[in-house]
Amino acid sequence: MESMVEHSCPVCGADNALKMLAHTSEIPYFGEHTQITMSCTNCGWRVTDFIPAEGKKPGSWKLKIEDKTHLNARVVRSASCTVRISELGLEVSPGSSSTGYISNVEGVLERFCDAIGIIRRQADDEKDTEILGKCDDLLNRIERVKTAQEAVTLELLDPIGHSQILHEDSTSTEISEEIAQELEPGPVYPVFDVESEEFI
Ligand SMILES: [Zn+2]
Repeated sequence: MESMVEHSCPVCGADNALKMLAHTSEIPYFGEHTQITMSCTNCGWRVTDFIPAEGKKPGSWKLKIEDKTHLNARVVRSASCTVRISELGLEVSPGSSSTGYISNVEGVLERFCDAIGIIRRQADDEKDTEILGKCDDLLNRIERVKTAQEAVTLELLDPIGHSQILHEDSTSTEISEEIAQELEPGPVYPVFDVESEEFI
């Protein structure tokens, strides 16, 4: 289902430039869900989100990555989700261009590696030795996590609550109001109501 949305773009402000694609499908263990992609025909801004058909499960999801089967655990990250690995001091907050994705734990670790790689390439070989050393250290540790030589905890914090880690060893808890307010809410865009199939 593709439709134009009568709403101005949150980034460039162009009137009625948003296009929405909605696609409903089934993800094992996550259930039926709707994937929504909004994009601006004027500036190219784009955001993807996942909305499960069966209610939300707000809160925090944790999985201690300590054996190789955990790397295959499916991760559904919605656009409002903060992804954190405390032991490594890594955190991705939802910004204005945050996008939801479905991946697995290994894929999430890869995304961290890519982000560290970008910082590493931008650093100056002579001036930024401290940054370079830190990047190399993090990349080494992530490699150790991938080969089950080091255990870290992957945490999803989602105040809106569409995100999940799908594994029998993962745990979920509710987020307190206090913590929810400290988290970035993610990109602001019209919210799609699955039941009425309308923007609210
Ligand atoms: Zn735009």
